Amino acid sequence: MADIPTHDVAVIGAGPAGLTAALYAARAELKTILLERLAAGGQLATTDMIENYPGFPMGINGLDASFAMLEQAQRFGAEFKLAEVQKLDLSGEIKRVETSEGIITAPCVILATGARPRLLGVPGEERLKGRGVSYCAVCDGAFYRGKEVAVVGGGDSAVEEAVYLTRFATKVYLLVRRDQLRATPVVQAKILNHPQVEIRWNTVVEEILGESKVEGLSLLNRVTGEKSYLPVSGVFVYVGLLPNNEVFAEQVELDQNGYVVADEEMRTSVPGVLVAGDIRAKSLRQVATAVGDGAIAGVTAQHYLDSLKR
Ligand code: NAP
Repeated sequence: MADIPTHDVAVIGAGPAGLTAALYAARAELKTILLERLAAGGQLATTDMIENYPGFPMGINGLDASFAMLEQAQRFGAEFKLAEVQKLDLSGEIKRVETSEGIITAPCVILATGARPRLLGVPGEERLKGRGVSYCAVCDGAFYRGKEVAVVGGGDSAVEEAVYLTRFATKVYLLVRRDQLRATPVVQAKILNHPQVEIRWNTVVEEILGESKVEGLSLLNRVTGEKSYLPVSGVFVYVGLLPNNEVFAEQVELDQNGYVVADEEMRTSVPGVLVAGDIRAKSLRQVATAVGDGAIAGVTAQHYLDSLKR
């Protein structure tokens, strides 16, 4: 007789997508475990204010939202475990999840591992990480009270976080590699003409300079070819995201950028394996869409488990 699985559903990753998937699965009375290596909330937990999540007209703090989502999932019986997933075997009817805290088995796995910041990839970045090079303004911004900092990138994250940093820094340089921002117009409006922000267009960072902490940046203007030195105490890198797919990359179909391909019901190429949130191949990565994916995945898990009983 086959071993009885430890759970009905294992959700990997406790960002908004995983938290919502766990909420829906647990509320459907499935024995649900939610695995997270760091802390509940994922990228949401390190975001100061979410302004476009419906129901919160004045915005909601990312950490508060994360705790509230976890509390809600747990209220319906989801088991939350801080554990790193080290190995996954998605091939059989019962999937096997090897974690730092033991082995979990379940017929249904929901991949909600999200994405992480892309590195800039210039000299000095690795060496000065945590010593002036940061990927999280909410975590590190307060260290730069009264100082000057740079933000690299032109997307929604770079612009939002540059504006956030003006609370602390006297001046924020936004370094944009093209002559326009990628950020959506409503986000752009926050920064264009901001008195504490100077945008340097067509500008890339060639090197991050400093002995034991960041002291400045070596810059290149891609149009004029002019090189310059920008003295700043900190540099915040927001140049896009990379999918957290390492633990299952060989086992489910990915798109060319490494995101998991799924249908509208969040079903991946492997039966019993669902996906939700930023790790899914899709066009809009927001808390609202992560939560939508999570809800669908939770319900699809229920349908899948029902189908196994027939
Ligand atoms: P993103 O939209 O992919 O933007 C990345 C930015 O970094 C682009 O401006 C890109 O320039 C630039 N870049 C990439 N590589 C670079 C390099 N090596 N040097 C300099 N610049 C470089 O990433 P994101 O801003 O992190 O946003 C990720 C997703 O989250 C997006 O879908 C975004 O809409 C969403 N998001 C939404 C909100 C919101 O709704 N308020 C807030 C945060 C994030 P190019 O434009 O030239 O490619």
